[in-house]
Amino acid sequence: MYILVINAGSSSVKYKLFDMKDESVLAEGIVDRVGMAGASLAHNAAEGKEIEIESDVPDYGTALELIADALIHPEYGVIGSIDEISAVGHRVVHGGEKASASVLITPDVESIIRECFDLAPLHNPPNMMGIEACRKILPGVPEVAVFDTAFHRTIPKEAYLYAVPYRLYGDYSIRRYGFHGTSHRYVAYRAAQVLGRPLEEIRMVTCHLGNGCSITAVKNGKSVDTSMGFTPLEGLIMGTRSGDIDPAIVFYLMDHTGMTAPEVNTMLNKESGLLGLSGLSRDMRDLEKAASEGNKRAITALNCFAYRIRKYIGAYAASMGGLDSIVFTAGIGENSSKIRAMVCSGLEFLGARIDAQRNSGPGGERLISRDDSNVKILIVPTNEELMIARDTMELTEVYRSISP
Ligand code: ADP
Repeated sequence: MYILVINAGSSSVKYKLFDMKDESVLAEGIVDRVGMAGASLAHNAAEGKEIEIESDVPDYGTALELIADALIHPEYGVIGSIDEISAVGHRVVHGGEKASASVLITPDVESIIRECFDLAPLHNPPNMMGIEACRKILPGVPEVAVFDTAFHRTIPKEAYLYAVPYRLYGDYSIRRYGFHGTSHRYVAYRAAQVLGRPLEEIRMVTCHLGNGCSITAVKNGKSVDTSMGFTPLEGLIMGTRSGDIDPAIVFYLMDHTGMTAPEVNTMLNKESGLLGLSGLSRDMRDLEKAASEGNKRAITALNCFAYRIRKYIGAYAASMGGLDSIVFTAGIGENSSKIRAMVCSGLEFLGARIDAQRNSGPGGERLISRDDSNVKILIVPTNEELMIARDTMELTEVYRSISP
């Protein structure tokens, strides 16, 4: 069974074609600069067949046609005909309060995705355009929506409500939604496998540290709290996002500097975080290098970044009544032994003891805590696309078994 996974963003469409027989990736790629000048397709197929094509890509429909052509191309394609694709899984960022799991896309599901346009204006509209474009090139093929927010629908009220007038929750849907849910779900599931313990018995904190960063308390397999909130701005320090700040700073800046609300919004989303603190870069590799050369602002940025994560781990251990495992994932979580060591230093009181050698050694997925550590610390490379493909296969099989 071949499953195509689509992640349609605001100016790009990423894709991966899976052969679910062994969950291998047959081809993957990206159409970049959709709707802009200089659009291109970069396509990588198994056996090292790579191709980059510059092309006019005015819309998502054209992007999908380009992808379909690449997949069936006689030289660098991987399937004989587009009809060999059994189902399509779409990453959809926001499912609001209604979407609590992945679902087959029906007109009702499309309405849910559209209802969330206001909540995720940069993501849900392109996600929807990706769905519509796929339907045109693959008519009749089941499509599945996998929501970033769905895993967090189990968060209890005391953790998802903000202490603002209650009517704002009803009138404007203001609450914590959380994001990166597919990644947190995948690494939690995988970490339990690595530990050889049932997920339903583990209190885990999963740290997704990429350009965007979020941290989730996963109790017995369910998300019970997460750091991103109404939008992805809340929580940890990220590449360019501030994470938690006192909201009064916004009004103070508007009063004292004459900045407008959109200007403050841009500053908090695009000019803050690691970039804002360091004044150098949003990229952890640059900052680690600068810090090792003694750059004070880079050192400060790393200290703040690690401290915020450590603080959340402590808070989530308290909210779950204890902690059995810490899981690191995404670009920084998987690759930066320095940040992992900084985060865990000071967590010994919780029973978390990182092993310096295991932490700095080579290899991807692995245990990096000492044998005498009560809290098991792990690295699990994230794989959101595989999770989307698995959900898509499962739902498509159910659909096939019940449809006439
Ligand atoms: P995105 O959220 O865009 O998917 P990634 O998960 O790819 O981001 O993470 C990007 C971050 O990972 C960047 O800050 C980058 O510097 C960091 N990173 C990647 N490789 C390393 C490495 N070897 N050491 C430290 N940081 C790394």
